[in-house]
Amino acid sequence: MRQSRRRNRNHLVSGLIGAAGVGLLVSAIFLGAKVSSLNGEMERMSAENASLLDVSREADDMRAEMEASLEAECLAAARASSEVETAEPETTQPPETEPPKWETLDGVAAGTVVTSRELDMDHLEKYFQAYEIKTEGAVYGRINGKSYRDNPDVALSDLRYLKVLHYNFNHELQVGEIIVNKGLADEALEIFREFYDAEYEIQSMHLVDNYWTGDGESSDSASIDKNNTSCFNYRPVTGGGKLSNHAYGFAIDINPQQNPYVSYRDGKARWSHENANDYIDRSTGLPHVITHEDLAFKVFSAHGFSWGGDWNNPKDYQHFEKKLY
Ligand SMILES: [Zn+2]
Repeated sequence: MRQSRRRNRNHLVSGLIGAAGVGLLVSAIFLGAKVSSLNGEMERMSAENASLLDVSREADDMRAEMEASLEAECLAAARASSEVETAEPETTQPPETEPPKWETLDGVAAGTVVTSRELDMDHLEKYFQAYEIKTEGAVYGRINGKSYRDNPDVALSDLRYLKVLHYNFNHELQVGEIIVNKGLADEALEIFREFYDAEYEIQSMHLVDNYWTGDGESSDSASIDKNNTSCFNYRPVTGGGKLSNHAYGFAIDINPQQNPYVSYRDGKARWSHENANDYIDRSTGLPHVITHEDLAFKVFSAHGFSWGGDWNNPKDYQHFEKKLY
């Protein structure tokens, strides 16, 4: 019984072993199949990988191609833009910069034509100024021994050098200069400012010394020949004798060509400057002719000046004076 049980047990064991063997075999076969299937899978995957690698390689190539073409395009664009810059350099203007406005007319020579670009148009009083005349200064150097010389009547300190703006006969703005008595300096500045505001034209405003010919009278004549407006000149009256009001800086001559000094004898007019031939007849209505209707007469009269055109004989149409002493 025990034997039989042992045998049975042996059978059972061997049966179990056999079964296990079969199981193992089956498992091995199954595993084999599995392995082979895995191998297939791996092969497929590796093939796929290979094709993925190919795709990735293709993408790399395309990227490189695109980068190369982009780079080429950028280079071309840069070259084109640099060509534009170098092709037309003249057309690139520097930015417009306003020149600084003049603070005064110091250092700006009389006769200089100016424009509103140089001027502070909101503060034009800067350009109507009176200056003392100092012996160490440039103005004294110009007048000493000419229109001014040592004398018992007029001291240098009695005079003022004026810089003003005026319109010339081309209706341009021009720098003018004139020496007047210091007692008339402010009024003269006002008068020339009124002329400026009314755009009254004066051809030229220089010191008579610019036309110096050796003495006061002949230099005055040379200044008149250039139609120059002036005031101070230490000289006798025209025709000789006592001192002129010009010697004190009390008299201003305006546009002398159009407004000549005319004397009459036996009803006949006499004058000494040929450039005034067209202006002896005072009724022509020509420009710059001073009459009672002219602005110069009105402005000077308003400031208490008398006019040489109102004298009986001679008549001095250029001449306005205000005698302070
Ligand atoms: Zn005069």
